[in-house]
Amino acid sequence: MNTAGATPTETPLLTVLIAAHNEAEALPVLHPRLREALASLGGVRTRVLYVDDGSSDETWAQLLLLAAGDPQVGLLRLSRNFGKEAALTAGLDHVEDGAVVILDADGQDPPELITEFVRLWREGYDNVHGTRIQREGESWLKRSTAHAFYRVIGRLSATPIPADTGDFRLLSPRSVAALKQLRERHRFMKGLFGWVGYRQISVPYRREPRVAGDSKFGFWRLWNFALEGITSFSTAPLRATTYVGVLTALLAFAFALWVVLKAVLWGDPVAGWPTMMAVILMLGGVQLVALGLIGEYLGRLYDESKQRPIYLVDVWQPGEAGVCLPE
Ligand code: UDP
Ligand code: MG
Repeated sequence: MNTAGATPTETPLLTVLIAAHNEAEALPVLHPRLREALASLGGVRTRVLYVDDGSSDETWAQLLLLAAGDPQVGLLRLSRNFGKEAALTAGLDHVEDGAVVILDADGQDPPELITEFVRLWREGYDNVHGTRIQREGESWLKRSTAHAFYRVIGRLSATPIPADTGDFRLLSPRSVAALKQLRERHRFMKGLFGWVGYRQISVPYRREPRVAGDSKFGFWRLWNFALEGITSFSTAPLRATTYVGVLTALLAFAFALWVVLKAVLWGDPVAGWPTMMAVILMLGGVQLVALGLIGEYLGRLYDESKQRPIYLVDVWQPGEAGVCLPE
């Protein structure tokens, strides 16, 4: 059942990609809502692809249940928990053609917005992303640190990374093909989406609270994620240490000159233990910070050099593409 005259291969395919880690409670709530949103889409064939990112709860059983009752559901299970970025990469790699919508499993990204995404895709946009104008049900600390992070990364990164924009977006087939070529192990997807370029547009939306369960990103994980983002997309911190070094050396030189002149002109005794300790400790601190920074980059280089796969697949069960409703 296709739109007048179009053969199945001509009708565009849209895959909704959902990474899930311990989302057994949220999935049964999200899936019917998603199906309803997709049912109203005309002129595209749709498919839903769930990636179970090494869940330790009933997520996989839930997914099997969903797939049993719905032939358009594809399932991918990773061999362990690889993290959301790797899970999304795995999903994208298993999409052979068509566009992709990335959605969170917890209902925080409204599936109803997909209609608008598809409309803009038809207008020729390649990367239609949802930008959060409001975040509900998230702590003040999370909102303010997220706000600050997007501003910092936006300034540091050479390629644009839209502020307050998560992974919730539609990617055109050529954007998906481009992303598949980026095989780095330390993956900061928001940066990679921006790196790809093409025509981008943002759609504002209100981020709702989770439908069930807890966020998988605690403070420590978010902090590491922020470091990942900065080190993956900017070498500005390395450059900054050079400037700190130059500044410290200049200050040290001026101080030394002052100490020598004071001794020569006024015959002052050479400054003693407290000054010495202050200078040594300060220099030591600056050097350790610089070393740590180099270490951050070197560690990532080491990981890349190992050339390990980004994820391993345990089970792959492709779903069928759904029928296409007339527009
Ligand atoms: N997620 C994942 N692997 C992980 C952690 C999270 O696939 O290791 C998924 C999770 O199931 C959800 C999405 O990534 O669908 C976003 O996670 P979460 O809601 O915990 O993040 P938040 O919205 O709090 O930033
Ligand atoms: Mg969430």
